[in-house]
Amino acid sequence: MNDLKSKQIQETQEAQKTICKFHNLEFIAVDLDTSEGSQIKFLCGKCLVDKLNNYKVSTIEQSKESIQQQSQRKLNKTQLLQKYS
Ligand SMILES: [Zn+2]
Repeated sequence: MNDLKSKQIQETQEAQKTICKFHNLEFIAVDLDTSEGSQIKFLCGKCLVDKLNNYKVSTIEQSKESIQQQSQRKLNKTQLLQKYS
């Protein structure tokens, strides 16, 4: 009984190790730059994008969102124009 419980806790801890606590996404990369400290940093998709932000990178998910927002804005403008014309 106790063994089962500790196994479950262990499994939960294992799962947490592979999930980014900031973005709740699975880690997909490792930051090998350990110059700031000796600890290896794991990066999820969004962490990776944050790190590469200087290169104007965004995730497909983020791109979709911003495209949706833009077309939504366009739509609103069209609706507004139709309303007042
Ligand atoms: Zn992250």
